[in-house]
Amino acid sequence: MEMQKRTPRGQRLVLVPTPYQGHINPMLQLGTFLHSKGFSITIVHTHFNSPSPSNHPEFTFIPIQDGLTVPLVSSGNIIAILLALNANCKASFEQCLTTQVMKQEPGKKITCIIYDEFMYFSEAAANYLNIPSIILRTTSAANFHARSTVVELHSKGHIPFPDSMSSEPVPQLHPLRFKDLPISPWDTLENFLKLVVKSHDVGRSSAIICNTIDCLDQSSLARIQKHCQVPIFCIGPLHKITTAASSSLLEEDTSCIEWLDKQSHKSVIYVSLGSIASIGEKELAEMAWGLANSKQPFLWVIRPGSITGSDWIELLPQEFREAIGERGFIVKWAPQREVLAHGAVGGFWTHCGWNSTLESISEGVPMICKPCFSDQKVHARYVSKVWRLGLELEDEFERGKIERAVRKLMVNSDGEEIRARAKDMKERIQVSMSKGGSNYKRKSELVEFIMALQAVTTAVSSH
Ligand code: UDP
Repeated sequence: MEMQKRTPRGQRLVLVPTPYQGHINPMLQLGTFLHSKGFSITIVHTHFNSPSPSNHPEFTFIPIQDGLTVPLVSSGNIIAILLALNANCKASFEQCLTTQVMKQEPGKKITCIIYDEFMYFSEAAANYLNIPSIILRTTSAANFHARSTVVELHSKGHIPFPDSMSSEPVPQLHPLRFKDLPISPWDTLENFLKLVVKSHDVGRSSAIICNTIDCLDQSSLARIQKHCQVPIFCIGPLHKITTAASSSLLEEDTSCIEWLDKQSHKSVIYVSLGSIASIGEKELAEMAWGLANSKQPFLWVIRPGSITGSDWIELLPQEFREAIGERGFIVKWAPQREVLAHGAVGGFWTHCGWNSTLESISEGVPMICKPCFSDQKVHARYVSKVWRLGLELEDEFERGKIERAVRKLMVNSDGEEIRARAKDMKERIQVSMSKGGSNYKRKSELVEFIMALQAVTTAVSSH
């Protein structure tokens, strides 16, 4: 008898992203993947940084009240905003889910809630309605492990640490030094730890999905797995498992692709500090002259408002603009995945947000790492010292150092090994993602796992 392959047709998943670019992207990419497998996808989101439904007509979008005040949002205190979201959204999410459950058709029940680890209010609502839940972690296993270590070190009285310790290695956390620990620059240490502890608590969730890949993050994953009671599905890089539409909160300037088309193979250094980091006027000038003096073509994303004290690029010196002529191209926001996949791009100066890091690694693009805060410091260290796919610019922004780093990464013979390793890692990721590879298998297992959750819900409701 021929075996009938089970499909999740009609099963509905509710996804709850954290409202920041680096979290919205992987959650919507996961949604696109699960939709391609036959699940119907509902995105429940805050009004703050709400994703654009028009980019994803295949999903249903439902906004919930987030109760954030204008002063809190404009403070930019991400820890305070996330704590407030968890306090404010619990009731509105429960209400939203209850309404959805009441009007659901028998064949189209909500199988599972998949929530970003920082939107942990979702777990309580899922439990209340007896709906299984799964956590999405959008960071690396290395960073997750480092964050857990911060909590542990704090409980032993080692955090906060004195300045004299900042360059000391953290025991069991090679190659991180105390100054690389992912401690948030916003809010108090107590509030930061509160958020970390809550977001690390698996509660009654059935599984964890990680946007990482074992060929990169294996040792940290093994350590995490030891203490975890539920299955962990590493199915990253999520942006590579489907061709998801853009979920950018800012408009992408695609004119940079036409400019890239005119540049020589692997000649361009792409520069972006992500969606949150900002720099001052002095750093801007050092960056600008370092890039100009390197003589390499560059594509530079300068987000409006990301230079302290200016709206956009008013503070860039006039002589710099004259010096670079056509050799540099500046945009407010780029289609980054497309940029990194472009043949003209040979290097990425990044702040080492996890999405940017993964996007670069999966295209074989070596990196200059200039982290600003939190997880970025962990990733910069891993990129430069463990995976050895890039160089870290430590200390202050300085034009001479920047110029030398760009030339080493892009053209000089002493950067050859880094470029070769970057190419090799891209191939290893491709192998893992193709049929028969470990990442490929984990994706199928995840789909099976979620379909099996349906059976649990049905059993619960038919009792
Ligand atoms: N990104 C983009 N265009 C840009 C800059 C960034 O599309 O001009 C995307 C990038 O591809 C990544 C996300 O924004 O997916 C940034 O996330 P990441 O984790 O790298 O850093 P964060 O913004 O959270 O600091």
